[in-house]
Amino acid sequence: MDTLLNWHKNNHEKRLFGRYIHGDSILELLEELPSQFVVTQRGVSVEKRPIHTVTIGTGKTKILLWSQMHGNESTTTKALFDLFKAFQEVDKNPFLDIILSSCTLCIIPILNPDGAKAYTRVNTNGIDLNRDAQDRSQPESKLLWEIYKEFNPHFCFNLHGQRTIYGFEDTGKPSILSFLAPSADENRSITLSRKRSMQVIAHIYNELTPYLLGNIGLYDDGFNRNCTGDTFQAEGVPTILFEAGHYPNDYDREITRRYVFMAIIAALENVSSTLPIDEALYLTIPEHQKCYCDILFKNTLDGDIGIQFKEKLTRNTIEFIPEFASKEETSFLFGHRIIDCSGIKIKKLLEEKLIGKPNIRHLNIDKGVTITL
Ligand SMILES: [Zn+2]
Repeated sequence: MDTLLNWHKNNHEKRLFGRYIHGDSILELLEELPSQFVVTQRGVSVEKRPIHTVTIGTGKTKILLWSQMHGNESTTTKALFDLFKAFQEVDKNPFLDIILSSCTLCIIPILNPDGAKAYTRVNTNGIDLNRDAQDRSQPESKLLWEIYKEFNPHFCFNLHGQRTIYGFEDTGKPSILSFLAPSADENRSITLSRKRSMQVIAHIYNELTPYLLGNIGLYDDGFNRNCTGDTFQAEGVPTILFEAGHYPNDYDREITRRYVFMAIIAALENVSSTLPIDEALYLTIPEHQKCYCDILFKNTLDGDIGIQFKEKLTRNTIEFIPEFASKEETSFLFGHRIIDCSGIKIKKLLEEKLIGKPNIRHLNIDKGVTITL
């Protein structure tokens, strides 16, 4: 993993950067892929944007991966293009050769290109594609199902990004990566396929913990048959949910992308080998909670005040707009940035000078005291 980490620092796909990644960003990169990659336009979105698959590898274990089914969750897409680059440099990462000879990967880099362009979770019709697994009312959901049926995978990797609100209440650490072996039924039974998903995640956890000690968590495993992962799991195909989270100060998610890249490779390493791993380790991974905000003004005379950034697409970049955090969304016990405001009344000032205004760097809070944000 150290070799991979170092390789990634210098050699990742630098043409993809930041949060706003959409179909136009990847088109040229797809066209440039050498012939070992088979790039196919498999369908179109509601607004007729192309949806591609990239197939690579010659092995018998088939893995279906899809990213950006939520259009504004782009970190995993960047990690996929880093993976494509790594596969072209197997001389520097020889064990990737083993993955390519034992697996065939079918990858959908952006499943929701309209949402990616508009920087929204949902597709153009306002549908959350990850709640459309049963109805399959949208062209994007139909296409995923069609590819799934045709490819008939042994494993599915469902690639997502999570908000900055997740962390661990007992340790105060943020949740930088999280995973889930989705349930296959309401009893959350450990079916054979679920057990296999747990083993893959246990292996990722083993491999990544040295780098992200205390920052890896699990998602809630309540069963929802409308979710894609739950549906595929219920079909008996081991499915793994990956969630790219927030690394402190990394709002571009350039550091998280590195760990997602490593997590995908660890998962591929596990599925391409027969190394036994005990799923019991999975059950020791803590579940994360909604306990973080972006900026926490602590101990003010108005109490603790949490600020949460709302992401807004403006002129081709993502602006981070401060809003008051809502207790319904996060308990904001912790903040990615903490500012002690003991004895200061600040709520009104924040309302006037900070809320709704992106790019505020300095705030004069009290008698000439200026804080840098
Ligand atoms: Zn998502």
